[in-house]
Amino acid sequence: MEVQTPWPQGTECVAKYNFKGTTGQDLPFNKGDVLTIIMVTKDHNWYKAKNTTGQEGTIPANYVQKREGVKSGGKLSLMPWFHGKITRDQAELLLHPPETGLYLVRESTNYPGDYTLCVSCEGKVEHYRIIYLNGKLSIDEEAYFENLMQLVEHYTKDADGLCTKLIKPKLEEGTVAAQDEFSRSGWLLNRKELSVLQSIGKGEFGDVMVGDYRGTKVAVKCIKHDATAQAFIAEASVMTQLRHNNLVQLLGVILEEKGSLFIVTEYMAKGSLVDYLRSRGRTVLGGVSLLKFSLDVCEAMEYLENNNFIHRDLAARNVLVSEDNIAKVSDFGLTKEASSSQDTAKLPVKWTSPEALREKKFSTKSDVWSFGILLWEIYSFGRVPYPRIPLKEVVPRVEKGYVMDAPDGCPEAVYNVMKQCWILDPVVRPCFRLLKETMENIRAKELYL
Ligand code: AMP
Repeated sequence: MEVQTPWPQGTECVAKYNFKGTTGQDLPFNKGDVLTIIMVTKDHNWYKAKNTTGQEGTIPANYVQKREGVKSGGKLSLMPWFHGKITRDQAELLLHPPETGLYLVRESTNYPGDYTLCVSCEGKVEHYRIIYLNGKLSIDEEAYFENLMQLVEHYTKDADGLCTKLIKPKLEEGTVAAQDEFSRSGWLLNRKELSVLQSIGKGEFGDVMVGDYRGTKVAVKCIKHDATAQAFIAEASVMTQLRHNNLVQLLGVILEEKGSLFIVTEYMAKGSLVDYLRSRGRTVLGGVSLLKFSLDVCEAMEYLENNNFIHRDLAARNVLVSEDNIAKVSDFGLTKEASSSQDTAKLPVKWTSPEALREKKFSTKSDVWSFGILLWEIYSFGRVPYPRIPLKEVVPRVEKGYVMDAPDGCPEAVYNVMKQCWILDPVVRPCFRLLKETMENIRAKELYL
């Protein structure tokens, strides 16, 4: 019999089934509840745990699933059966040895722009041309689909004229099915328990809505298009690996078979920090609040630094404010582990460090540069950095050592922190641990007034 190592204190798990409890010591829960392990009991089949409202009790180990960060060795894909441009012969090799229902989709070589569905059926591979007509996909010109995911979903349920229904995807080498990975690690939420209410913001690729998930107000990023959803899968998987009070917390994701993706996060009632600063201004926000926001962000960044993540898009527009005025870093779309590379074309020039723009040298120290710009945004109540300098002149001037003046009324000690962040040599630039110490010192000595 397999002996499972007990989960350590602090492990998060998700309930797989409902548990009513039999004694007063038990902690009842429902399927989908998130529980945190407090300790293993003498009987390893039971843990002492607490739920999100703080109630404690014993829970049966086999009723819950450990929640882990989604860390796939390969590329997470919503369409792992899509092999891109391969030939008919290559497809046939991939579907060997024969197994009825094994399938893949490739780009058509004979009809560029169309696709081909290849299915193994009783020892033979059938190739069905998928035509692309008026924005829709079809095999038989009877059933039409918005995208490949919808098409594949349809034929996995019913052969509907094909030689067999689709049974088993032939995965592209190096890819991992995103659905399986999120489910295995305990991050898939139940669509039925989420109600999506009204729009609260427009993201680059879809609406941000306010919703209700099991009685809690949540924010839901709704990504409708399959190709875009694919890009957001990476962002969601980064979020599964992070947990800090100053990072916007992922609650889970919903992947619909037809290609939509919902990313559900904690609801941040006061919206983005840049809008918050602009709308309140200096009459409402005093030195204490500004320093508090700065420290909140710095703590989140120290956490990322310690865990080897680089944010790459730190700016006041990507920080959100909670009901109780806590600033939390959000938008992990460009966040990656320290080793990966980055295409510089998408980067916000005014926030990105010179070495990152010039040589794609990203490090925690390039995040430190952006943090300096973010501090400037905070102390100027949401102004756009480098006012009055045309965008194309910003980089050449910065490279020569130009730094922005202190915003009006900015305490000198805080301006000194900004200037430290804008030291051209990243090696000399301080790390977030040091910046946090400096800013805590500013707070303790009341140098922020
Ligand atoms: P984004 O696509 O993440 O840049 O979000 C666009 C806008 O939606 C933000 O500027 C916020 O106003 C709003 N928003 C995003 N996430 C949340 C959230 N978790 N809570 C509240 N509002 C949010």
